[in-house]
Amino acid sequence: MKSRRVAFAGFIHETNTFAPTKATYEAFLKGSGHLPLCRGNEMIELVKGANTGIEGALDYAREANWKVVPVLRASAVPSAYVTEDAFERIAAEVIAGIVAALPLDGIYLDLHGAMVCEHLDDGEGELIARIRRAVGYGIPISVSLDLHGNMTEQSMQDADVMVGYRTYPHVDMALTGHRAALLLDRLMSGERFAKVYRQIDYLIPISWQCTEMEPAQSIYAALAALEQKEGVISLSFFPGFPAADFPACGASILAYAQTLESARIAADALKALVDASEEAFAGKVYTPDEGVREAMRIAATAKRPVILSDTQDNPGAGGNSDTTGMLRALVTNDARNAALGLLYDPDAALAAQAAGLGAMIRIGLGGRSGIPGDAPFEADFVVEALSDGFVRVNGPYYGDTLMRLGPSACLRIGGVRVAVASHKVQMADRGLFRYLGIEPETASILVNKSSVHFRADFAPMAEAILVCAAPGPMAVDPASLPWTRLRPGLRLSPLGLAFS
Ligand SMILES: [Zn+2]
Repeated sequence: MKSRRVAFAGFIHETNTFAPTKATYEAFLKGSGHLPLCRGNEMIELVKGANTGIEGALDYAREANWKVVPVLRASAVPSAYVTEDAFERIAAEVIAGIVAALPLDGIYLDLHGAMVCEHLDDGEGELIARIRRAVGYGIPISVSLDLHGNMTEQSMQDADVMVGYRTYPHVDMALTGHRAALLLDRLMSGERFAKVYRQIDYLIPISWQCTEMEPAQSIYAALAALEQKEGVISLSFFPGFPAADFPACGASILAYAQTLESARIAADALKALVDASEEAFAGKVYTPDEGVREAMRIAATAKRPVILSDTQDNPGAGGNSDTTGMLRALVTNDARNAALGLLYDPDAALAAQAAGLGAMIRIGLGGRSGIPGDAPFEADFVVEALSDGFVRVNGPYYGDTLMRLGPSACLRIGGVRVAVASHKVQMADRGLFRYLGIEPETASILVNKSSVHFRADFAPMAEAILVCAAPGPMAVDPASLPWTRLRPGLRLSPLGLAFS
């Protein structure tokens, strides 16, 4: 059999429309700390071993002996709107690359699902629609997506199949790409899938979307069982990203089956379960002082670290990773053997590099995002470690990946060490402490700027995990955000008030 010719492209952004910084073309060039914008064969080299959709799909392509045409992969750190300039330049290059690759048997796309642009509500829907207009309906398009996608019916119409991650922490990103490629193979063999879209009527806070906890754990187990039913091809549940102010924001279900009836039955069974789980998407949230004091109490007799999630400044959700509320609470409460990371402050990292190891520097650390209630933390810090920021990590979240964190430093104040980097990267791997001489296993308290992804690598070594809400742009309770454009009737939190 002649080998199939398939174009591969990726364009990834999770947009928090309330966040302080927009995603410019420059931000995509730099990439999300570890994967800069790449084209052609360079794309295949860069993703090797990484936990990404494209790498999983490439794995399948190698097994199936496809002729892959690598077009372009671009991702930026989650933030506010993708600029019109960035979207138009990258979308144009993706489309031109796909058209230049014709004739094709299929197209695989690695997308997020929660991209909002300055000039467009639905970045992915627009990109797929433009690809359709360029290549017509004869070539199947398969898409893998993040579990945080705010999926729209429009994007579902123009793609032949779309599949979402099933884990949060997303340890199955590559696996999902592999699934999308396998489904593309079936489409290229001539199969066609009926599709059904369902929206959920409440927003789900990201801290409680974790699939290692209930109710998400049971929902995904039920999803896998429903997918085994006769005629069902693929079922995805997207808890969504509840920080994007546009009408399709929120959770959704995408079902594909051999018949419309089978797709409907599967989607509605899953929706009934998600509807019945509304109350269970909840958990305790501590103020910074409460969280630190509770961590100190537990740590006094514990042999393993207590981990505080600084969830509202998660750079994986639009935070700048530079708020200081948790640092302030650690210092004020005189926490000992504590560490916080990663704090994004290129100026502080350079000042530390200039002063040298062992020096004492007086700086205002972090706090530059203009978040109400946040400010730089002015103090004397000891420079305890320095790094150029090139660090190889290999935990379950990032996979085997070279991080480019830029000039970095470990700054100590009293019993608190702060891991400072020049790029925003979510603290989701122990290696991101270790490269600055901080051994996470021997710390008493760790503050991680992450909502859930850190759990993949850190939960196995944690005595306890507490979720804290210091001032930051990623609201732990979506009902506290100043929404203006949601669809009427959508509840702003589980069992909460409806938007009107
Ligand atoms: Zn996600």
